[in-house]
Amino acid sequence: MRDSRVDFDVLIAGGGPVGAALAAALRDAGLVAALADPGLPADTQPDGAAAAPFRPIALSHASTLLLERVGALDALSLTPIRAIHVSQTGGFGRTLIEARDVGVPALGWVGDLAPIAEALQHAARSALLAARVTRWESEREDGAVRVRLADGRFVRARLLVLADGGGSAGDGLSLREYGQAAVVAQVRTERPAAGVAWERFTTGGPLALLPFADRYAVVWSMRTARARELLAAPDAAFLAALGECFGRRVGRFTEVGARVSFPLTLRFRRAAAVAPRVVAIGNAAQTLHPVAGQGLNLGLRDAFELAAHLDRAGRPALERGEVAASYAAQRRADRYASIGITDGLVRVFGLDHPLAAAARGLGLAALDLAPPARRFFARRFVFGLRALP
Ligand SMILES: Cc1cc2nc3c(=O)[nH]c(=O)nc-3n(C[C@H](O)[C@H](O)[C@H](O)COP(=O)(O)OP(=O)(O)OC[C@H]3O[C@@H](n4cnc5c(N)ncnc54)[C@H](O)[C@@H]3O)c2cc1C
Repeated sequence: MRDSRVDFDVLIAGGGPVGAALAAALRDAGLVAALADPGLPADTQPDGAAAAPFRPIALSHASTLLLERVGALDALSLTPIRAIHVSQTGGFGRTLIEARDVGVPALGWVGDLAPIAEALQHAARSALLAARVTRWESEREDGAVRVRLADGRFVRARLLVLADGGGSAGDGLSLREYGQAAVVAQVRTERPAAGVAWERFTTGGPLALLPFADRYAVVWSMRTARARELLAAPDAAFLAALGECFGRRVGRFTEVGARVSFPLTLRFRRAAAVAPRVVAIGNAAQTLHPVAGQGLNLGLRDAFELAAHLDRAGRPALERGEVAASYAAQRRADRYASIGITDGLVRVFGLDHPLAAAARGLGLAALDLAPPARRFFARRFVFGLRALP
């Protein structure tokens, strides 16, 4: 039965793709949920004409199944990744991981972030609340969280979910500065993209070329000062630098679109439970380096696992305030594996030493020669870093 002392069973602060995914997954849960974000569009009908700058996202096969579950997949135009080629500069060794290694049609799919978020917001449209959360406090004795909105209103919720992309920083956050930024752009090449994603490790940072329609989306991580130079460089100079770093595997780079850059840090909470009735999901729980394309994929797992957890735990657990701690315990292994492996990749492949390059080369060569090991990595890309073998 509805408790008149609370406004919402679940209040989600942040309507980016992860918060919207949770609201969509809770649609039929029999809970009163709201998705609060000051930037939510008045009309969430996905029209594909997103105003935000292009931001490529590699969605795992498993993530597309989650989007499909809430009806957010059909509106999207996604390009399949049928194989991933991994190599390094200044060292031997390469490997090719293919969709057929795991028996799926595609290892993942590449899309643009804004339409993905829009499709999820549309799926969550019955819960939208155009408001910014400015403050909250747990009221243990009343069994609710008291939340202040930017317009001065106070609302009360059984559970507050922080999905604000890390905006509500605060205590309990660990931080690692990589001194890197990612330059993102669409490029055309002599040979059109044909379903292969290229990941090239350089000592400055990893360079990814993701197939996007007949072009490639470049996500090029590099030292911050170099990113500043390349953002400002003329197109020809950018294309020449890209060719020098990547080589000729896709022919010459012939055209580049608008370039934007993102600072790269690792920021995470040790536990997803921030307070007895408050949990963090998505980037609010962990903001990762994009090297393994895991941030949104992990955030979507956070959202759908929380929805499933609420369903299993039931209303009495929500009322008693038990959900945050049990959810955090359940998510710990997946979060820690994703954070650790992503951070490890950045650091191991960033070591600028000939011995380190040789060891990495041996690793890539061994991976290429051993189908079970390739299958192991392919499954992690498809199903998440903690997938069962
Ligand atoms: C260069 C780059 C490449 C990437 N590539 C990939 C990839 O290939 N694959 C992948 O899985 N991930 C990738 N990621 C990571 C991915 O983009 C993020 O993990 C994901 O977008 C985070 O979504 P989110 O909903 O948690 O946060 P956000 O998208 O940041 O959304 C947060 C929302 O909260 C709202 N908000 C903020 N404060 C408040 C408040 N006080 N009250 C209410 N609302 C608030 C904001 O308006 C915003 O809408 C990449 C990241 C970068 C930087």
